Parts: sequence; C-alpha cells; structure tokens
Amino acid sequence: MTETAANDAVARRRTFAIISHPDAGKTTMTEKLLLLGSVIQTAGMVKGKKGPHATSDWMSMEQERGISVTSSVMQFPYRDCVVNLLDTPGHEDFSEDTYRTLTAVDSALMVIDGAKGVEDRTIKLMNVCRLRDTPIISFVNKLDRDIRDAIELLDEIEEVLAIAAAPVNWPIGMGAHFRGVYNLYTDTVHVFEPGHGRELHPDTRIEGLASDRARALLGEEYDAFCEEIELVRGASHEFDKDAFLAGRLTPVFFGTALANFGVREMLDDFVAWAPPPLDREATVRTVAASEPAFSGFVFKIQANMDPRHRDRIAFLRVCAGRYEKGMKMRHVRIGKDVRIADAVTFKAGERALVEEAVAGDIIGLHNHGTIQIGDTFTGGETLQFTGIPHFAPELFRRIRLRDPMKAKQLHKGLQQLSEEGSTQVFAPLTSTDLIVGAVGQLQFDVVAYRLKDEYKVEALYEPVNVYTARWVYCEDARKLEEFRKKAAEHLSEDGGGYLTYLAPTRVNLSLMEERWPEIQFRATREH
Ligand code: GDP
Repeated sequence: MTETAANDAVARRRTFAIISHPDAGKTTMTEKLLLLGSVIQTAGMVKGKKGPHATSDWMSMEQERGISVTSSVMQFPYRDCVVNLLDTPGHEDFSEDTYRTLTAVDSALMVIDGAKGVEDRTIKLMNVCRLRDTPIISFVNKLDRDIRDAIELLDEIEEVLAIAAAPVNWPIGMGAHFRGVYNLYTDTVHVFEPGHGRELHPDTRIEGLASDRARALLGEEYDAFCEEIELVRGASHEFDKDAFLAGRLTPVFFGTALANFGVREMLDDFVAWAPPPLDREATVRTVAASEPAFSGFVFKIQANMDPRHRDRIAFLRVCAGRYEKGMKMRHVRIGKDVRIADAVTFKAGERALVEEAVAGDIIGLHNHGTIQIGDTFTGGETLQFTGIPHFAPELFRRIRLRDPMKAKQLHKGLQQLSEEGSTQVFAPLTSTDLIVGAVGQLQFDVVAYRLKDEYKVEALYEPVNVYTARWVYCEDARKLEEFRKKAAEHLSEDGGGYLTYLAPTRVNLSLMEERWPEIQFRATREH
C-alpha cells in the first residue's frame, strides 16, 4: 500500500459502538446495520443475548461463545466507508468491557426507546463517552409504537444528558399511524411501509414537503404537520458539525429498528459526519492517525474464545500505521519485540487471519498471559497510550476459599483475572481478606467459574459493606502517610498496587472528602 492509499484507507474508517439501555433495541439495530452492510441477507439471524438461561449463567454463555466471538467486532463496507462496529455487552452481562470498549471508538450511536426516553444505563455510558468528548449520534427507536412526544424527548436528551440535540429528521405520525420521516435539511419525505422488517426497506422518497405527493401522503394532517415543522425549526438546535465533533451536540434521528425504517437514513449521515480515526494521546506525545509507524493499544481481553484451546484474545485498536502479517511489534510495557503472524480480524463477522489492518481497525492478538488491558504496541517507539481507565466498581464481594490451602492459587488467579480486566481486586491494608469489585453481576460469576476451571480453586462470595471505591492521590507525602494511618481500616491496595479508599457509604465518602481536602478521591484510574 502506498502512503496515499494508506491515508485514504484511514480516512474511510468509521469506528463506533452503540450505547443504550437494555431493551432499547441495540441488538435489533446491530442486525439492521449488518443488513445494510450486506453482512447478512435476512434479519432474524443475529441472536440476542436474552433467553431465560443467559441471564447470569456463564456455562451457557460458554456454549454460545461462537456467537459472541463474531459479534465482538463487526467490520463492513458501507458507501465509501469501512465501518467497524464494536459490540458492547449490553444486558445483564454488563461489565467493565463495555466502558473500556468506548475508549477504543471514535464515535457512538445512542439508541433510545421512544416510549421510555433517556434511561439510566444510557446516562452512565454517556458519561464515559464524555471523558473523551466522543461524538454521539442519536436514534429514537420504536416509532412503530406509540412513543412519547418528540419535542419532549429532545428536551429530555438535552436536560438529562447535558448535550444539545439537533433533530435531523422528524417523525410523521407514530404507532399505527407512522408514515415516515421528514428530513429537515434535504426537504425530503422518506416513506415508511410496514412489512419490511427482515429485508432492506424500499427507499421511497418524496422531494419537497410542498409537493403534491407529500400533501397526498399526509392528507388531513398536512397543515398541522407543516406547523409542527415550523415550530421544530424555530425551537430546536440546528445541526452544527463542529459542535457534534466536539461532543457538544448530537444529531437526532427517528425510526424503528424492528420495522427497519430510518436506519438507512441515519447510517447515510453517520458515515458522512462521524469522524475518521482520531489522533490519540500518549505519554511523550500525541499520535496522529495518519502516521506511517504502527501503534495501538489493548482495550479488552476475552478469554476462552475457542473452548478447544485455552486461548485468550487481546483486542487491539490500531491507532496509527498498519498491521501487516508477520510484522515485528514492540510490546512496550515489557520492552520486548514480538513477531506477530497470527493476528485475527473480524471482517463481515467472521474470524479470520488478518493480512493487513489500518488505523481505526481492531485486530485480535493471541495472548499467552503477557498482555494486559491498556498495553501499548508500537513499531519500536517507546510510548504508552493514555486514557484507558479503570472505573470504580459498583458492586463488591468478599471472596472466600472453600479450601484454605489454596490461597496461593487464589491470589494467582485473581491477579491474572484482574490484569485481564475481568474483575478488580482489593487487598485491605488491615486484614487478609480479598475483595473483588465489578460493575456488573456477571463479572462475579465469570470470576468464580474461571477460578474453578482454570485455577482449580473453589471460591465463595460474601456480602461486604462497601459502597464505592476511590483511588487515592496526594502530592504531599506526609499528608498521605497521615491519611494512610487514620483511614487504614477502609484502605486497600488494588491489583496494580494502587492505594484505594473503599467507602462504606456515600455519606462517609463525602465526609472524608471534606475532612481531607488535600487528598484526591478519584473515580477512575488510568492504566
Ligand atoms: P437490546 O436489549 O437493546 O439489544 O434490545 P433488542 O434489540 O433485543 O430489543 C428489545 C425488544 O424491543 C425486542 O423485543 C425487540 O423486538 C424490540 N424492538 C426493537 N426495536 C423495536 C422497534 O423499532 N419497534 C418495536 N415495536 N420493537 C422493537
């Protein structure tokens, strides 16, 4: 590939993830995107992660592994672009992976259930996106049902998520009376026809709201709709690409993923507006996506992807340059050069050996225990990408052994699992307990299962009185020592050896913050 061709390939990449609350329609939307990308020919093939058994049953997840492998990263061509859609575990299996995957994308698609509005998981994910000002496109879903008033929904997005909302299209009716959407910028009516949920929806357009065809489609509601559009134009934000790219404004689309309408209209603008691979901050310098030298970072490690081998795949986001089969990479943290000939890619949902990948793409590296979340790989330069955080867990359990003789294996297992990002481990300063933390219940089940399966350790969980964790920083070493002594009973070291305050209650945390103004209590820690 020449340098121009490589730069062109990078400029055409769109790497994003979907953020939503469970049941808002992420799986359905993913399926319709794959349909538009010609990855699948009929909808109804991509399996949702639902069903009575999938809730928190690691064993059955294991059996369904084939599906989760292919759905971790989906690459497909669309128009002039190559789209990389990164799956985020969305449901009951919500985990830190979801948060960290958002550090590997350049934009996000927020799917909102039109009947429910902005829900709490969406708020959390949006807060993670805000750490990097990730541009967000919004899709208000389920227009084939009776949803809430569209203006009210825009207000809610603006208020609850603190982002300006600019409608790009506007719904014509809803539920049984849903007729389509009107694009406020191109003055085009996109006509909805029920019954195309499983295949591509016909692209029927009417140019001009003032046209006879538009009048005929809207019938008696025509005048009221025109008035509504006047009102919307006057009262809402106008789309502003700079504000969008800065994460301050989200363009809003309306449609129905299930009935497969409005998705194409959204995707067309998405590929046109969403940013190509962005420059990334690293220690020593900023890395431009257009640089020829290879670099990237690991944002996720998935274990046991192939049950026949104990393999662990490290997902690496290429930030610059390109991966070529057989190339040498520097594993910066351990300072070693490794030749990589068997990286896997996820083109069209299939796992295959990758020949070449450019900035914005995700490649999977076989990990034999030497790769951790946050690790940087380069073409030889010593630098480390920043901004791949640990997030304060929200759930805590004390972990106990059935057989006390196995303490060494337990420590080893937990150490490894925490390096992989499966859980976070805290060792209190004043006891020999071990506390594990997670953002989703399933993480605990995974840890118990893997401890037994891989480290032959049977572990039990007990409730523990911890409300949240905060990483403790202080410039003043003496002050820190004083704090260490006074607060020892609530202090722990995390898996990386960092001092952590485990607050028993929210009130306790605020009191400590007040009492110790010199101490910083941070909700995230970077790798
Ligand atoms: P996820 O939990 O966000 O992945 O949501 P799913 O895609 O699994 O959808 C949750 C439920 O909402 C499923 O029963 C879908 O069939 C349904 N659903 C998704 N999109 C739509 C839509 O546009 N209209 C209607 N009526 N239902 C939808």
